[in-house]
Amino acid sequence: MSAPQTAIESVLVENRVFPPSPAIVKAARISGMAAYNALCAEADKDFEGFWAKLARDNLSWKKPFNQVLDESNAPFYQWFADGELNASYNCLDRHLGTPTENKKAIIFESDDGKVTNVTYKELHAKVSQFASALKGLGIKKGDRVIIYMPMTVEGVVAMQACARIGATHSVVFGGFSAKSLQERIQDAGAVAVITANYQLRGGKELPLKAIVDEGIAMGGCESVKNVVVYQRTATACGMLAGRDHLMHELTAKAAPVCEPEFVGAEHPLFILYTSGSTGKPKGVQHSTGGYLLWARLTMDWTFDIQPADVFWCTADIGWVTGHTYVAYGPLAAGATQIIFEGIPTFPNAGRFWQMIERHKVTIFYTAPTAIRSLIKAAEGDEKIHPSRSDLSSLRILGTVGEPINPEAWMWYYKNVGGERCPIVDTFWQTETGGHMISPLPGATPLVPGSCTLPLPGIMAAIVDETGKDLPNGSGGMLVVKRPWPAMIRTIWNDPERFKKSYFPEEMGGAIYLAGDGAVRNADNGYFRITGRIDDVLNVSGHRMGTMEIESALVSHSTLVAEAAVVGRPDDLTGEAIVAFVVLKRSRPTGDEAKAIAKELRDWVGKEIGPIAKPKDIRFGDNLPKTRSGKIMRRLLRGIAKGETLTQDTSTLENPAILDQLAENL
Ligand code: ATP
Ligand code: MG
Repeated sequence: MSAPQTAIESVLVENRVFPPSPAIVKAARISGMAAYNALCAEADKDFEGFWAKLARDNLSWKKPFNQVLDESNAPFYQWFADGELNASYNCLDRHLGTPTENKKAIIFESDDGKVTNVTYKELHAKVSQFASALKGLGIKKGDRVIIYMPMTVEGVVAMQACARIGATHSVVFGGFSAKSLQERIQDAGAVAVITANYQLRGGKELPLKAIVDEGIAMGGCESVKNVVVYQRTATACGMLAGRDHLMHELTAKAAPVCEPEFVGAEHPLFILYTSGSTGKPKGVQHSTGGYLLWARLTMDWTFDIQPADVFWCTADIGWVTGHTYVAYGPLAAGATQIIFEGIPTFPNAGRFWQMIERHKVTIFYTAPTAIRSLIKAAEGDEKIHPSRSDLSSLRILGTVGEPINPEAWMWYYKNVGGERCPIVDTFWQTETGGHMISPLPGATPLVPGSCTLPLPGIMAAIVDETGKDLPNGSGGMLVVKRPWPAMIRTIWNDPERFKKSYFPEEMGGAIYLAGDGAVRNADNGYFRITGRIDDVLNVSGHRMGTMEIESALVSHSTLVAEAAVVGRPDDLTGEAIVAFVVLKRSRPTGDEAKAIAKELRDWVGKEIGPIAKPKDIRFGDNLPKTRSGKIMRRLLRGIAKGETLTQDTSTLENPAILDQLAENL
């Protein structure tokens, strides 16, 4: 092939474009591309005025702000700094006395299928009383509180109660080990831990409190004075007198009213550790005012939230998605949302589809990893295929967490959305607080595999290593050229790492470096994320995103369920491509593996070009993933090179898989 670069581009140049239907456009909050362009133009013309108006219109301020953006100590930007507000007030009290107060805030479905409804008024009462209880323990504004809870109403109550009293929460995903917990307690200097005795997942009772005890016992956690335990199941857990309290006992004794503690807009609402796909997790610190504004606004813009919607974001509160689109955004918007305790495969892999039917979900937001595994399950067993459930209530679908392969996008579009629902492929990060690049459902024509265009006010661009703009059509580094209200404020305890990671000197020190590679389409300027900067491959001088080759592999849809591609140093070609592949059938070995590997290599050769053929293909039952379901390519790079493992694997979900993948064909 004479021009491999062009050929590589072509595999993901999607010809399919899916414009929103006229009916969707007509009903949407941001209706049509002209409305989107008008908002972008407003932000261009008067950047601070644009944000100030939105902040005044969308949040309740105890003390109005005069200052909008303060850049005097860049890159430690401040927004609305002299204003005062409370996040819990904006999510709860704001709805009291309006028709929303008797609306369902949460429809909770437990692991075993029991459904509980909580109205806004009831949620306000629960949060207020628990906030009083926390205050009674001496927890006050500025203290850090670790939340290590299952997906339950109480998990959200714990977050909101911290916000109500001005304590900074740091949620740790319930699947993390005692060691990870200990590290986060120490790093945050937490004064308290809120947990549950057990969590219920997939019909099993899994300990949480025992892990908290183990983590604290590892030492260095002397800052923790109180542990509050939500009794999720009847099984008792160990309680340390003086330190440990049962949530319901504590709450029963507490005053039902708790006035919100109004804080400055820059007050840290939470610290959240990133998922650790690329290295040691970073304690991302977020503000109150700017963060909440974006949580609220993106509900309107990206999800077009309407009063009658039933919103379901499947993310755990342990991830940023579960912060912005479970604990804060939907409540700030006065929406009804689903909270699901269990897992998508219990009692069978049709659970999501059955729940959408049961609760008449209208907006469904999940991760590509979930979609891929449900595709695999549905194709193996027609009883759990989405077509078995009535999904006609759905009007908008969304994805987040990783690039979605066009193949998986099409499946989701057809089989879940009935070719009727726009898919918002939302690109964002723990650090960005909310969506950054995403279609608007009533405006943007969709292209499978592309997150399309930046939201209004988000100055995303693609640059080279020196920060210089690159023309559309050439791949480079994704950056944001102006600060935005919901951006990360610092890395907790490590301002230097904050500057180095996100505002590198080589790029001038003032533009936000996302760490992802991207390319903009030459015709329409649409963004496509090509993978982490570290994952860009250079084979015989040809630069390729790992995503391109992965998508080509996955497009062999009869054979391949999932694929991850990394580079390995190679004397001849600079870098050689190594692919780790999970098949739809069981893992092959010996000659059969060799034959399938050859078939896949030829397939990639045909789809992209010979230059992109993986030199080495390894088969696994699974891929190494973070607990949030992201493929950990950094570990695969080590395996591809034949290294023994010395890296941080604290956030890895399935360590045993590494040995299997290390085996040669
Ligand atoms: P760490 O920063 O510790 O390595 P992480 O980056 O995986 O962990 P998150 O903040 O949870 O932690 O994930 C953000 C990343 O997820 C983005 O930088 C991007 O790589 C990926 N991502 C999220 N949404 C999308 C999307 N819609 N399309 C492509 N990639 C996405
Ligand atoms: Mg990251």
